[in-house]
Amino acid sequence: MSARDVISNLRELAALTSTADGAQRLAWGPVWREARAWFNQKLNTLGITPEIDAAGNSWATLPGASARTVIIGSHLDSVPNGGWLDGALGVMTGFEALRMFKDRRPPVTLKVVDWADEEGARFGRSLLGSSAASGSLQISEVEGLADKIGTRLVDALRENGVELTRMHEAQTFLKAIDAKAYLELHIEQGPVLETLNKPTGVVQGTFGVERHLLRFVGQAAHSGSTPIPLRRDAFLAAAESALGLREIAKRHTTPEARVVCTVGTVKVEPGIVTAVPGVCEISLDQRALSAMVLAKMLAEARQASERAARDNNVAVEWKRLWQIDPRPFDPNLIAACADAVREVTGDAPHLPSGPLHDAAEMVPLMPVVMMFAYSSNGLSHCKEEDTPEPHLAKTIEAFLKLVEKVVQG
Ligand SMILES: [Zn+2]
Repeated sequence: MSARDVISNLRELAALTSTADGAQRLAWGPVWREARAWFNQKLNTLGITPEIDAAGNSWATLPGASARTVIIGSHLDSVPNGGWLDGALGVMTGFEALRMFKDRRPPVTLKVVDWADEEGARFGRSLLGSSAASGSLQISEVEGLADKIGTRLVDALRENGVELTRMHEAQTFLKAIDAKAYLELHIEQGPVLETLNKPTGVVQGTFGVERHLLRFVGQAAHSGSTPIPLRRDAFLAAAESALGLREIAKRHTTPEARVVCTVGTVKVEPGIVTAVPGVCEISLDQRALSAMVLAKMLAEARQASERAARDNNVAVEWKRLWQIDPRPFDPNLIAACADAVREVTGDAPHLPSGPLHDAAEMVPLMPVVMMFAYSSNGLSHCKEEDTPEPHLAKTIEAFLKLVEKVVQG
């Protein structure tokens, strides 16, 4: 059975590129190169030699009867001490799809892409290869990057035959492909499928994110001498806001649309046990799959913070830290994905992706869908990352079924 072969290949790759602490396929480093060399040998057994584009992405092609192309993508790179499935699952299942069609010329061309530096674990820029290919990467945003020991990105790239200033030429490579669909299989990296006790999920898209810093300014005062009604306590305003922000996320959560909201940092000044806090800063991170819902959540968050500020007689200022639009996937591919998942597992739970994936970069360019595999204990980016083998086998089977449907459809 082909799912077994995928799992045994994954175990072989893990044995070759992991230590006792987990996977060590850090992008642009020697272990990552070893993983790619190992994968190239696998491709060679199918008579395929991959091409490397200007951004270092590796493309394996199985020509079909037409130039219309179904792209299967993921990444071989990992974070330091990473899991055995993150990225590798998608690439190895893509390999199995190539093998599946090897001896029966498919009606369309199949390409498996191993995106370079999806994780951004070394230089801090995730989706490096796929964003260069999609055109969303600004060279100016990455040219100054260096890793922890001072190696510059530009030098690490050059060591791997990639010229930073020419990475954007990967766009030409991608544009030359007559893409019918982009499919990606990935481990969920969260607890939703586990909570539902389902092996496989249909991904609706990647979340949009609104990330802000809220600064409340009141008046620091002596805690012993300042009566409660006379205080301008910035912390209490921030705390009331945080509770309000949680309610906003709860209100907008439906079984079809899960949204999230997190206050992840809090800074209080002067930070003395005997002083009423005069200044308090909190972070806000809101995520939703619908741009309309996200905009509404953001507007309501502003209102909640202003109300809390008023009630505590303090001022509040907002500063945007980062923002990205939601990237909803293609409705027809979502339906095909749901059919494939249902046929293999009996049910097709839909869920959004919290983390970003290379698939998000492809959304403006072609129809895209992703499939998720169950994450044990919701863990990823660590050596404990796992999918129980029967669940893993079912997910691989469902993904290959999806490929079959899209290739034939
Ligand atoms: Zn990944």
